Amino acid sequence: CGIIGYTGNRPAVPLIIEGLRRLEYRGYDSAGTAYVQDGELRVVRAEGKLIELDTKLAALDTSQARAGIGHTRWATHGVPVERNAHPHIDQDGVIALVHNGIIENYQELKDELAAAGHTFRTETDTEVIAHLIGAMLNSCIVEGVPEESCMLQALSRALQRAEGAYALAVVNLAEPDVIYGARHASPLVMGVSDNENFLASDIPAFLPYTRDVVYLNDGELVRLTRESWAVYDSKSLTQLDRIPQRIDWD
Ligand code: GLU
Repeated sequence: CGIIGYTGNRPAVPLIIEGLRRLEYRGYDSAGTAYVQDGELRVVRAEGKLIELDTKLAALDTSQARAGIGHTRWATHGVPVERNAHPHIDQDGVIALVHNGIIENYQELKDELAAAGHTFRTETDTEVIAHLIGAMLNSCIVEGVPEESCMLQALSRALQRAEGAYALAVVNLAEPDVIYGARHASPLVMGVSDNENFLASDIPAFLPYTRDVVYLNDGELVRLTRESWAVYDSKSLTQLDRIPQRIDWD
């Protein structure tokens, strides 16, 4: 029920956990994070309170990650155990994503992907979206589209098939310092700053770091790097002009 994404010049994982802590008031049953470290996409998840996730992370080296995503889950599909905690990965393990909301047509998509050879590791509606994006990514690369354009295109195509409510944050192995986000009927806001940018369900997650925010609208897709951010119409991929607003918040 809480999402955070970070890309910047500081170690990402401690910042992500701190952000999740500031979203704890939203309620949750499990938590997790994904980031790239040593050229590998790493996913760490735990059932229960954030302290459980903290304990697992304390045993790992996360020091190289400068970007990543985090999630606190309020289960709707699949029991609240570690296996079903977010982030979820695609078939090939090249993207990881976190999701708030419900994908209404997940069973139909799941059946279709299973018929195409996908194997699912969880009972969540969310995992289906990860696999769908992965499948779209593969077909984009096969079509000869430049790989840096493929993530946006894959997200756009996958989201056109998803029905329901979602706020998403996505990372991929090919772009360790980039975060993608999308929303439809679930809250997602971007916090922008020099040398670091944030994505979150709600402003408190990044309030100590920036007060310049861009509220995302339904049907928008974002790409964040340390030094840049861009908002797109998720269907047409037309880039949209957005001006950050400065918030006053004590
Ligand atoms: N429907 C998803 C799940 O059950 C997301 C739940 C949430 O918003 O935390 O895993």
